[in-house]
Amino acid sequence: MDRMQTMAYLNGKFTKGKKAFEVINPATGETIASVPDLTRSDCRKAIDYAHAAWPIWRDTDTTTRSRTVRKWYELIVANKQEIARIMTQESGKPLAESLTEVEYGASFIEWFAEEAKRAYGETIPPPKNGQRLITIRQPIGVVAAITPWNFPLAMITRKVAPALACGCTVVLRPASQTPLTALAVAKLAHEAGFPQGVFNVVTGKDSKGMGEEFATNELIRKISFTGSTEVGRSLMAQAAGTIKKVSLELGGNAPFLVFDDADLDAAVEGAIAGKFRNSGQTCVSINRFYVQDAVFENFAKKLTAAVKKLKVGNGLEEGIQVGPLINNDGLNKVKTHVKDAIEKGATLLTGGKVKKNLFYQPTVLADVPMSSFIAREETFGPICALFRFTTEDEAIAMANDTEFGLAAYFYSTNINRCWRVSEQLEAGMVGINTGLLSNAVAPFGGIKQSGIGREGSKHGLDEYTELKYLCFGS
Ligand code: NAP
Repeated sequence: MDRMQTMAYLNGKFTKGKKAFEVINPATGETIASVPDLTRSDCRKAIDYAHAAWPIWRDTDTTTRSRTVRKWYELIVANKQEIARIMTQESGKPLAESLTEVEYGASFIEWFAEEAKRAYGETIPPPKNGQRLITIRQPIGVVAAITPWNFPLAMITRKVAPALACGCTVVLRPASQTPLTALAVAKLAHEAGFPQGVFNVVTGKDSKGMGEEFATNELIRKISFTGSTEVGRSLMAQAAGTIKKVSLELGGNAPFLVFDDADLDAAVEGAIAGKFRNSGQTCVSINRFYVQDAVFENFAKKLTAAVKKLKVGNGLEEGIQVGPLINNDGLNKVKTHVKDAIEKGATLLTGGKVKKNLFYQPTVLADVPMSSFIAREETFGPICALFRFTTEDEAIAMANDTEFGLAAYFYSTNINRCWRVSEQLEAGMVGINTGLLSNAVAPFGGIKQSGIGREGSKHGLDEYTELKYLCFGS
């Protein structure tokens, strides 16, 4: 069945806008479809619909809510091949990765359908006789969600599933680069049977105006954003006017430490997984490799050999592991970072060039100087930048020398070092002898300027509820 959906989803209806914009396949430059270019005032309408639907959904029993959310999960899994194809076409990621993302994204829906049943309060021993103190958790209200293009499904489900499961209503604005995955799953949400207005999807190019509406509209009680630190900062400032609860999943600059006691083959495997997924365009992508002196040459040699084997191309073709960069801005950033590192003294071990159009060769740079852009900024591309270190303290200081704190990774076979380093790394998530760490059952999120709040796990539900305290007198 054709799951491509090209209309926005408002108040339980698929709706055209007055204008439309095109969605482009970054691998081919071809137009895939046109979707409504809604305006800030359409966005306001969507918020009104969600607000009107809130009391109905909030007061729907937990069993019905949980089963509807579960049904949505089942429909997504049943249509995973088609959704993955849509995702690959609009984001460029290889089909195998898109399939993994559909399953990963769906797993958050499955998880929160269950967690909603466990939105427990507590009883508190009272300080005085005759009192009874309890807490309850209640849905926060209308939630606005803004998501990026790099995970066209999972960044949505991590927000929308807990919000819907616990009784909130939602207005989602997906990235204009990747609205088709969002609309395809909105169609499935419709089929799952959410009442009208409970879930709304607004597509549009006016990200600034729509974002401002979300952040300043008094009916929105919570804004959940995934994207760049710069935009997150401005939304948080705008949301301050109405004291909204905010969740921010922002940029990273992940370090990957290889100690001299590491299993180097495992470290290379982890490096490939943590670096080249989505062509290096993930917030938890490894950006800085710190390798201890004694194993530097050996690790660089093994990593370069593995990188040379990666197959680059259109993600719809069989066996492709690395797709295109998302757009010209992304490509230019990668080119600038590589050129800058080489000019400042780094050695190019492989890659270093545009393959064609938006495709960049997987690249390894060794002995990158700390003064290079790549040491400070998220590159968001298929580049491995290798820095050298001598002592553990030095490695930790280098890893923490950034305003970001999302993911960090390291390889060591020394259990004492594993504990020590894990505790000292300034990051919300630490991968120890692994290059992949995200799943629905564990809390995902950053510290420092990488964000506020957690997605997934039991903590992910708290973000969409308010804790109310009830004090019964004698
Ligand atoms: P971005 O420019 O901040 O865009 C993210 C979303 O915000 C898109 O939907 C975008 O819409 C929208 N947007 C852009 N400007 C806006 C504004 N002024 N007000 C309101 N919304 C606005 O980020 P990106 O470069 O596309 O995405 C990559 C960034 O996301 C990276 O920094 C990455 O690390 C981060 N990220 C973080 C996580 C995490 O969980 N921590 C996960 C994935 C990505 P349009 O695209 O339509 O303009």
